[in-house]
Amino acid sequence: MQKTIIIVGAGVIGACVAYHLARAGARVTVVDADRAGATAASFGWINASYFLNEDHYRLRSEGIAAYHRLSETLSLPINWCGSICWEEGRLEDRQEALTRLGYAVERISDQQFAYLEPAVGVPPKLSLHLTAEGVVEPAALAATLLQGAREAGAQVMRGVRVIGVLQDGARVAGVVTQAGELRSDEVFIAAGVGSRQLMEMVGFELPMLHRPALVIKTAPVAPVLTHILVSEIGEVRQLPDGALTMPAAVGHQGDDADHVVDLRQEAEAALARLQALVPDVPLTLAETVLAERPMPGDGLPAVGPVRPGAYLATMHSGITLAAIMGELISDELLHGETNHTRSWLAPYRPDRFTPSGISET
Ligand SMILES: Cc1cc2nc3c(=O)[nH]c(=O)nc-3n(C[C@H](O)[C@H](O)[C@H](O)COP(=O)(O)OP(=O)(O)OC[C@H]3O[C@@H](n4cnc5c(N)ncnc54)[C@H](O)[C@@H]3O)c2cc1C
Repeated sequence: MQKTIIIVGAGVIGACVAYHLARAGARVTVVDADRAGATAASFGWINASYFLNEDHYRLRSEGIAAYHRLSETLSLPINWCGSICWEEGRLEDRQEALTRLGYAVERISDQQFAYLEPAVGVPPKLSLHLTAEGVVEPAALAATLLQGAREAGAQVMRGVRVIGVLQDGARVAGVVTQAGELRSDEVFIAAGVGSRQLMEMVGFELPMLHRPALVIKTAPVAPVLTHILVSEIGEVRQLPDGALTMPAAVGHQGDDADHVVDLRQEAEAALARLQALVPDVPLTLAETVLAERPMPGDGLPAVGPVRPGAYLATMHSGITLAAIMGELISDELLHGETNHTRSWLAPYRPDRFTPSGISET
């Protein structure tokens, strides 16, 4: 019999899981409250060069491979342009660690850099070229995945907020929305920072860090940058419309600030740093976006069952991980945990946050 699955959240994680589930024959309904999620604000960098431990590296690296697999069935808005990194820290150590892990990394000189990125005023003496990395346009990616899911039979409900869960005894049997109830065999919660509140509804306490991020975008300029620049002033890239964009925090991925002190001042300071990076390109600030990164308490993804009938996935670096999560989570929602899914997901189970495993209400 077809399994009925409700997905709460139409960001990149919900959309990717919906795509795989619908193609596998499940009856999928995606409900989304249309809050400004992380996906729309995201920088869009797909990488495994930032990681918290070796398991995390392997997952992120497989995340890149999964995007190549996904590209065989969908036309994705991805540019495998590679990154050039010269942010703080000893680059030689970084190169050695990445090479040991088998990651594609080349050391480049200032002359090579100047050839690759001539708009940068002062080429770094030494930088690392990370050739396997890319960028995706996050909102377009989610829209493409949802369209693919719809074409495979999924339904998408917009403007619908989940305000409670239905229970059959201990089992979660659907959701309550502001416009009525929806029953299902499984509820998959992919609600980004909204996941914590939904977890409370199923009686599971999910610690989440408060990690706001400010991103700036300039007015469009002529094509000047080819790679993602992971520079000493932060991560920079050029969007398809010509705008340059960067998170205002230097070292955004590891940024642990829990508040933005002064929106305007931080945006203008970021613009000034960006202008100094590309001094001959006249830049004006066009847009600032303040968004919250969905980050579980220890910074790692939280993925897995939290109750009979309820499954959670929330994470930062959800762009990098969306394609692999789409494969693994859809597999678990349909068939339960397998050796294969366990081998990737065991370190990220939500029950690590409860002293004695999954808590009971
Ligand atoms: C500024 C910024 C830059 C980033 N840069 C990168 C990057 O370069 N690379 C990378 O890999 N990751 C990056 N990330 C992280 C990445 O964007 C997120 O991990 C990812 O987008 C999370 O996707 P999601 O689908 O889990 O959540 P979201 O995109 O937040 O989607 C959750 C959805 O759930 C819906 N929702 C919430 N509550 C409810 C409810 N009660 N009922 C119904 N719907 C609900 C919301 O409306 C929302 O649409 C960045 C994040 C930010 C904020």
